[in-house]
Amino acid sequence: MSTTPSPRPLRVLISGGGVAGPAVALELSRLPPPLRCEITIVERHPDLRASGQQIDLRGQGVVAMRRLGIESQVREVRVEEPGLRILNARGKLQAYFGSNKTGQGAQGFSAEWEIMRGSLVRVLYDETKDLPGITYRFGTTVSSFEHIRDGTAVRARLSDGTEAEYDLMIGCDGLGSRTRRNMFTDGREDIVKSVGVACAFYTIPPRDEDTPNAVLCQFPGRRYIMTRRDQPGCLRAYLGFRNPDERLSQTIKHGTVEEQKKAWAEAFKHDLSNEWGVKRSLDGLFTPEADDFYTQDFAQVKLDNWTEGRVTLVGDAGYCPSPMTGQGTSLALIGACVLAGEIARACSAELTSQSSDSQATNNETNDPWSGGIPRALAGYEKTLRPMVDIVHSENIQRGIKILMPETAWAIKLIHWTMWLVSTLRIDQIASRFASDDRGSWKLPEYPELVKPKVSE
Ligand SMILES: Cc1cc2nc3c(=O)[nH]c(=O)nc-3n(C[C@H](O)[C@H](O)[C@H](O)COP(=O)(O)OP(=O)(O)OC[C@H]3O[C@@H](n4cnc5c(N)ncnc54)[C@H](O)[C@@H]3O)c2cc1C
Repeated sequence: MSTTPSPRPLRVLISGGGVAGPAVALELSRLPPPLRCEITIVERHPDLRASGQQIDLRGQGVVAMRRLGIESQVREVRVEEPGLRILNARGKLQAYFGSNKTGQGAQGFSAEWEIMRGSLVRVLYDETKDLPGITYRFGTTVSSFEHIRDGTAVRARLSDGTEAEYDLMIGCDGLGSRTRRNMFTDGREDIVKSVGVACAFYTIPPRDEDTPNAVLCQFPGRRYIMTRRDQPGCLRAYLGFRNPDERLSQTIKHGTVEEQKKAWAEAFKHDLSNEWGVKRSLDGLFTPEADDFYTQDFAQVKLDNWTEGRVTLVGDAGYCPSPMTGQGTSLALIGACVLAGEIARACSAELTSQSSDSQATNNETNDPWSGGIPRALAGYEKTLRPMVDIVHSENIQRGIKILMPETAWAIKLIHWTMWLVSTLRIDQIASRFASDDRGSWKLPEYPELVKPKVSE
């Protein structure tokens, strides 16, 4: 009697060890036996890049986080932010929006699942670093790659000089993805579209009187300052500017960190130096605490397809919705679950049909990947596309204009409206009838994947 041999492992190369990369690896480690992967994650940074500010998970992003089996780990490190205080430029409270702690309806600005980006990156890394079949290579990038064997594999050369063959390459290398640029050689970089907002994030020296609430202060000329305290003794400053002047835009793109900090200080100092929070936030730019300074021109990535042959994209690399949607991290986790789920589904079916064929013909076969992977990638595109389209079609420009209006009068009107909404608790009533889910899209169940062990 002949027995069908176990298939060889799926060889996967993941570029980017942020959120999406380790999440895909974690979910792929749960392929049903005898399917299994050998995964290499290359990360450009010399070590774990566990920096960044507060991010949140909402709607199906929370479902994906639970599916990944990291709920208790995330709960342990999540940020408790009671709510959002809106101040005027003299520091007087205009409105307060508490977080929705009912576990039902839509979240407010401060979500139930607020977490520092670095904490989430660390949770995902800790979950994956010792798993059999997963190898991290820090300080390494993919120098080039090409399709080989009639498009059924990819040969990649890494920056450390090594070269290897993979069945699947996944670009999880964020907004500026090099994988994406090398996949689409027809110069499709117009797919990265600025949403017209520049932001800077950094830590500033704390004070005893700092509140655990987020604090927002808007200024004429399309600017704001926000502070958030994710832990006692630590204050994060956010500077925002809608349609920033050319000098700041160019410095964000091409300047050194010191030049960027100076350009941000200039953008606020010349007319706002006496207003609430400005002096403290700008002085804070040049303190040792601000060594985590990060500035970005917010953008969206809009692609018709995320896959080319055996190379695909997950997270910001493929469909960054911009931080203005609050959906970037949720989409990255959802994308990871859908891709791994589709691989489990298509390749299990392929294996089953090959086993029955081989019994019928007495042929031994052991490659569920060559047929399964193309179907899985098509399934990934088809399943996730409606969700990404919904997030991308949201009108974020209206919210951007309300957050960063042009004139002092517009700010007064917004404050008055916010005061009314918060005093009459309209936000709380409305949130009960709303949902953080985008439309009716739900993360599909993938029973083929082995369920994670959930630690309490
Ligand atoms: C340092 C940093 C700080 C951030 N801070 C915030 C924040 O404060 N608020 C917010 O809303 N969003 C922030 N983001 C973006 C947020 O993490 C993502 O929108 C979201 O979590 C989706 O994750 P991702 O894994 O797709 O992308 P990212 O989290 O951006 O991860 C991409 C990873 O790929 C690595 N990488 C990039 N290029 C290469 C390459 N060529 N080869 C190998 N590796 C590469 C990067 O170092 C990074 O680790 C930040 C991202 C980074 C990298």
